[in-house]
Amino acid sequence: MSAPQQAGSGRLILVSNRLPVVISQGEQGYHARVAAGGLATGLSGPHRESGGRWIGWPGVVSQDGSLTPEVHALLNERMMVGVGLSEAEHEAYYTRISNRGLWPLFHYFPERMRFDAGDWEVYRDVNRRFSDAVLEEIQPGDFVFVQDFHLTLLPAMLREARPELPIGFFLHIPFPSSEIYRIFARREEVLEGLLGADVVGFHTLGYVRHFRSAISHLLGVETRGNRAYHQGRQIQLLAHPLGIHTPDWEGGGEDEPEVQREMQELRQAIAGRRLILGVERLDYTKGVPERLRAYASLLRENPSLADEIMMIQIAVPSRVEVEEYRELKDEVDRLAGDINSEFGRPGRQALHYQFRGVPPHVLRALYRLADVCLVTPLRDGLNLVAKEFVASRRDDDGVLVLSENTGAAWELGEALRVNAFDDENMVRTLKRALDMPLEEQTRRMAAMRKRVAEKNVHVWAREMVDAIRSAEPLAPPPALAGEAKQRLLNKWKKADRRVLFLDYDGTLRSFTDAPEDAVPDATILQTLSQLAGRADVATWVVSGRPSDLLDEWLGKTGVGLIAEHGASVRAPGETEFRSLTHDLPLGWREEVRAVFAEFTDRVPGSHIEEKPLGLAWHYRQASPEQAAWQARELFRHLEEGMADQPVEVMRGNKVIEVRPAGVSKGRAALRVLASAPGERPFVLACGDDITDESMFRDLPAWAWTVLVGARESSARQRLADPAACLALLTELAATETVQAATGSVR
Ligand code: UDP
Repeated sequence: MSAPQQAGSGRLILVSNRLPVVISQGEQGYHARVAAGGLATGLSGPHRESGGRWIGWPGVVSQDGSLTPEVHALLNERMMVGVGLSEAEHEAYYTRISNRGLWPLFHYFPERMRFDAGDWEVYRDVNRRFSDAVLEEIQPGDFVFVQDFHLTLLPAMLREARPELPIGFFLHIPFPSSEIYRIFARREEVLEGLLGADVVGFHTLGYVRHFRSAISHLLGVETRGNRAYHQGRQIQLLAHPLGIHTPDWEGGGEDEPEVQREMQELRQAIAGRRLILGVERLDYTKGVPERLRAYASLLRENPSLADEIMMIQIAVPSRVEVEEYRELKDEVDRLAGDINSEFGRPGRQALHYQFRGVPPHVLRALYRLADVCLVTPLRDGLNLVAKEFVASRRDDDGVLVLSENTGAAWELGEALRVNAFDDENMVRTLKRALDMPLEEQTRRMAAMRKRVAEKNVHVWAREMVDAIRSAEPLAPPPALAGEAKQRLLNKWKKADRRVLFLDYDGTLRSFTDAPEDAVPDATILQTLSQLAGRADVATWVVSGRPSDLLDEWLGKTGVGLIAEHGASVRAPGETEFRSLTHDLPLGWREEVRAVFAEFTDRVPGSHIEEKPLGLAWHYRQASPEQAAWQARELFRHLEEGMADQPVEVMRGNKVIEVRPAGVSKGRAALRVLASAPGERPFVLACGDDITDESMFRDLPAWAWTVLVGARESSARQRLADPAACLALLTELAATETVQAATGSVR
């Protein structure tokens, strides 16, 4: 029998709205041609090598949304699987929700956004159709990589059906600031959809930050660094900008003679002038009218330039069925006409404007001939044109003017950056580009060209695919029962020394509405006293509570106390607490207290707890609905507002706490262990809260770490609740150890 295949070791299943194929119907039936393009080139390697499938819409609509057997066969030959769509479905899912809903909003054009609840149902149904297609294809070991905003709901649909399936998602458009994002009528559903993936990729760190902020604010999802923790899983958030296939642009390819011929012809048309180039789909995000106006302003302010420069603007028709796009075309047509009538002369156009795509060899020739490439979108997820222009500059000359509102601006720092909304800034920058000495051009271009070549589309595909393949879902740890529990008892018996680190609230004691009511009951006191009474066991209660309260409640048991998340420590049997945090700056307290006070005012039932070092805001007794929203708001505010202060902002169970940085239960536990060197002891740490995760993470791998509860955790085992935890401790307290039985203690 063959061994079960490990998740992620098998085939790559790619999913995108559109398959990279063009299907046409001729006299001899259907014909398919694989469409070229950076993304398809980048993904085709891993797709082919893994023997995977590419699932998507092949570009042909039919009345009932089905595909003919011929189309299926054509796709099958190319390792593709078609998802059929009817015209009505395509209209609602693609044209309306994707292109008129998500596209404008994610590009910061909320006023252009249209949303219809009925269309959304279709969007969801189509995502479901894709999900069904994927599930039908999936074999053990496979992993899935979903592309873009047409399929935001797909990851969660797949996750629901296949909890173990490694899933990645990449968003090719910006993820907007959460203030914009939250306008969207189905904002939670989209976020939940994306969080079904194990890896969510974006072009820039800025988009990752926006996404993090949206999931934290709208769903209350916990994030740490580039990880989000949701429904018992961990999701990696990555910033990996898409690259290009540089050999396509470096020259010397198969079509080099054609490119050369084209360059020859273009040179004649340019007639010794310097060339400014603009290339894009005609989309309102691309800032074409703004650019043409800036070009006109430049010529108006510098009349002598009219004989020295010219501009070519290629505008590829896009979404022509949408009215806004038609209006945009009219505007650009008008502007182009005005420019030529104001600045042109017979036989010498100031602007050559073309509302038509150009064949690849013409584009290559244009990139190679242009002196300045103007890439000035008002907003763009990345922008490939900028990278293609850079890759084409074999002599490292030419100037790239790049809008700061593009994802590419993050990578191409040597470009001249512009604010595409600011006409004066655009004119100044364009002038500067035209005046730039060759030496400076070379310095800037060489650095960018090297980077574009290194971070090419194959590197992007590999990094994303590797991240998905090796994704580690963080499941709740397995229950401490059966054989595992037996092993624990055996280790306990055989060890020379035993050290216990026990959290209090939620671990030994169930939560109460008011924190001051959580006094220890007789079982807790008895169990702790019993453990503390054994010379071969060092028992520590590790809590976020202040030292005087722990002393009052637990002092008599004789256990060691680690108070305030590790800020203050008292060894078993001792009477004085020692501070582990001398000379910590506490100037931030006043500011935090004021913010807490404001929120306490707004959320009836919440209150502030003053600790010797930290400050906590409790909202267990407040109305959950109201408090949850306010708590997220407060957490966000503190996290950002306190970023430059030596503090940590922690979100616990119905509590937000600010305390000095570098203090944690994990560190305190490690200090305790280090203070008694010698043979490796038996170590058991139990906790329920996020603050206990530092113990689970920091303690050595051989320690027993037990989560009390059922969420995802770094702990290696799990117990259901405080009662189960106490039962285990009672059992341990009563379990004879080998040394104790033979009379040798420690
Ligand atoms: N492009 C094209 N035909 C043309 C002009 C441009 O295929 O006539 C290509 C160009 O090479 C680039 C892509 O269109 O790869 C545009 O990508 P970009 O990221 O700049 O913008 P998007 O259109 O994806 O928003």
